[in-house]
Amino acid sequence: MPKVIIVGGVAGGATTAAQLRRIDPDIDITIYEMGRDISYGNCGLPYHIGGEVAERDQLIAATPESFLERDIIVNTHHEVMGVDAGRNTVQVKDILNDRTFDAEYDHLILSPGSAPRIIPALFDVPQAFVLHSLEHLDEIKAHIENEGIERAVVVGGGYIGLEMAENLVHRGIKVTLVHRSEEVYPPLERDMSGFIVDELKAQGVDVKLNAEIMEVDGDTATLTTGEEIDAPMIIAGIGITPRTDFLKDSDIATNDLGYICVDQYGRTNHENIYAVGDAIETSYQHVDRPVNVALAWGAHRMAYVISNQISGDRSVQFEGLLGTNIIRFFDHDIATLGLEVSELDDYPHFVIDHKQKNKAGYMADSLPIHVRLHVAQEDGKILRAAVVGTEGVDKRIDVLAAHIRLGGTAMDLANIEVAYSPPYSSPKSVLNMVGYKAIEKMNKLQK
Ligand code: FAD
Repeated sequence: MPKVIIVGGVAGGATTAAQLRRIDPDIDITIYEMGRDISYGNCGLPYHIGGEVAERDQLIAATPESFLERDIIVNTHHEVMGVDAGRNTVQVKDILNDRTFDAEYDHLILSPGSAPRIIPALFDVPQAFVLHSLEHLDEIKAHIENEGIERAVVVGGGYIGLEMAENLVHRGIKVTLVHRSEEVYPPLERDMSGFIVDELKAQGVDVKLNAEIMEVDGDTATLTTGEEIDAPMIIAGIGITPRTDFLKDSDIATNDLGYICVDQYGRTNHENIYAVGDAIETSYQHVDRPVNVALAWGAHRMAYVISNQISGDRSVQFEGLLGTNIIRFFDHDIATLGLEVSELDDYPHFVIDHKQKNKAGYMADSLPIHVRLHVAQEDGKILRAAVVGTEGVDKRIDVLAAHIRLGGTAMDLANIEVAYSPPYSSPKSVLNMVGYKAIEKMNKLQK
């Protein structure tokens, strides 16, 4: 019976194990997870802190015991320290018993995810946390409850920072948000993101831009601006790095940043070693360019691809990613897909901007929605899209993702037959209008 070893037991690892077992009832599956828990929804962690997910255990999809019932062996507190691809073995450290051993595999699946970046000034600061796992969630909750926390500092204005700020506000905690530049929420175009700081302020958040934490003394943090702020709890969300250090002595190919290079079957440079999730480098779906996307959709899709591959069905392939993403930020929704703004310069393109109501304008509850497309001059391909609004953003970004996946251009958007009734859209929806504008622009360019 072929033996599969999986490194990492949360999104990519647990999903691949479950998919493999569904396809092949007999294959031998062992997971090594260095942490305490497996198979939980880390995307939901901020919402438990805010109270929207009432019970912590609602975040847990499977446990070692429930996996064992499906004949999947899970070893938590077991860290894979190295891979010997020549001998088909991994070196494992049993953390609680402080012993190491080698384990053999026929197929190895790497899903080690990413590690949150740590701010040097916060090393050894007892009230400083990151939120990347269920263990972190428990530590944060315990600190809030044991210390009666009423104020908190969130460092970083990316999506984790904004989600944390929102959820702490929902919990009744007074938040200070410290962000190193002027530009909060860097995934969004700068000229579209101004409302974020306005909304933070409207929600009572004290916003410190162009500032970083330099030093913490007791419950006081000193910023690089010289200002001192109250910091009885600090949560940092300043980015991530792939957790692939354990591969450094193996000859598994990684890129300059440490992401594991894989092909369309999730295979590394070794036939029987696969990788999935935050730690991989894949390519964009719509342009030939490498990309690292640390989001859950890609992990789940690649889990399906790899499990089919191992069970012998080579017809399923990973088609790359658009990095489609969305966050809710108080009453606003922000979604983007495609190239990052900084990557657009390499592609001659034009921009289509369109603002419209999300439903028939005469409906009392219609709300503005803003769609921006970056369109390739050459062929009308949608290189990047950003959608911002208060309702209906999710629908528009998903339609755009499907449209691009099926090869649709910006001009083709005019021809999408939308479901129209006044409470949902307009007969010419916002995406149709963007399509008409693209046609007009393209016609001008071609004259
Ligand atoms: P993980 O799910 O992080 O699992 C990796 C596991 O591997 C970890 O448990 C780690 O302990 C273990 N591990 C690492 N190295 C080793 C080793 N050497 N030996 C043994 N075990 C090891 N994505 C979205 O798409 N939408 C969202 O709204 C969203 N919200 C998020 C909110 C938060 C707070 C966080 C932290 C993430 C969020 N994400 C979101 C990202 C999403 O959770 C990740 O993309 C996804 O979990 C990646 O799966 P993974 O298997 O690569 O890594």
